[in-house]
Amino acid sequence: MALYAELHRHLGGSVVPRVLWRYFQRSDADLAGRFPEYAEFEEFYTKPRNTLDEYLELHTMVEGVQTSQTLPYFIYRLIRGAYIFENLAYLELRYTPFLRTSDKLSQTERIDRMAEIVDIVGIASQVKEYPIVTSQILCMHSRLPYEVNKAIVDLAAQKRQYVCAIDLAGGDAHYADRLDEFIELYAYARSLGLNTTGHLYETTEGCYPELLPYLMRIGHGIQIPLQYPELLGELASSGACLEVCPTTYLKTGNLQDIRQLKVVFDRCFAAGVDIAICTDNAGLHNVRLPFEYENLLTYDIIGFEELQACQNAAFRHAFAWPYEQPPALLLNGLFQTATPDLADVDLPELELVHLQETRH
Ligand SMILES: [Zn+2]
Repeated sequence: MALYAELHRHLGGSVVPRVLWRYFQRSDADLAGRFPEYAEFEEFYTKPRNTLDEYLELHTMVEGVQTSQTLPYFIYRLIRGAYIFENLAYLELRYTPFLRTSDKLSQTERIDRMAEIVDIVGIASQVKEYPIVTSQILCMHSRLPYEVNKAIVDLAAQKRQYVCAIDLAGGDAHYADRLDEFIELYAYARSLGLNTTGHLYETTEGCYPELLPYLMRIGHGIQIPLQYPELLGELASSGACLEVCPTTYLKTGNLQDIRQLKVVFDRCFAAGVDIAICTDNAGLHNVRLPFEYENLLTYDIIGFEELQACQNAAFRHAFAWPYEQPPALLLNGLFQTATPDLADVDLPELELVHLQETRH
């Protein structure tokens, strides 16, 4: 039985359009008035954007409604959907806690409230009827000041029961001016024993080799196999993994055709660099993880064997999966003992049944 691990999903982009639209109808008169019909809202919410920046702007709309009061509402629906429709056994959920605090507070007050947000997300993610192993990744943000980003790293270290890693988000083209600062923050995070990932080499403007030594996984990283394949050997020996999110590149205008990803997979497989296939923003795209898998097969970008290799890699690179093996191996043993062993069945008898059936 196939159960999956999702390593790259943003809390803001995880709300599927119907859940968000229903929420507006119930609780937000302004937005409900702007989108009286669901179809119109879905079209607005999921349509492709021209640039990564334009695409990221949509997150602010969801961030605005995800407050300490409403987070349990959204997270319950997220976990329910992930369990019922996506067969997730493991989910790492990422977000910038500062951006879930009220912008009416001072910066210091907002920093102080971040711990409460992490607790709320952690508690809300544990849903008894939909059991998934979950953990949080806290995102530093390229548009936030140093003090806030440092506080995010410190918070990750204090809340290890809920947080498994830190990330850097906000559009990789914007790191350039403050690269030294981000290197220092990643080095600091590693010194605290934190796991690290980072949105990097997503676009051609976001390629910073200086950051690579600090990252255990790379958010996207597709420009490495596409533009800088000479770096793949180094990645293979450091054991880094790329979190590839196929639908994103079409929604951000980063790639024109999903088939451009074939080179990404081929070069990574050849170099021995693991890839975890992820959704990034399953709600915003309205594409759940099993459909990301299916799309890659449909377009002949990978085959079933490669798909399974990526699915297993996701569990191997998961920061908080508590078992040695992926769940399929644990469950196979269980199902095989429950299935009658064919060796115990008398074969001629089976053949007789088959002949009788064909006569009818
Ligand atoms: Zn992302």
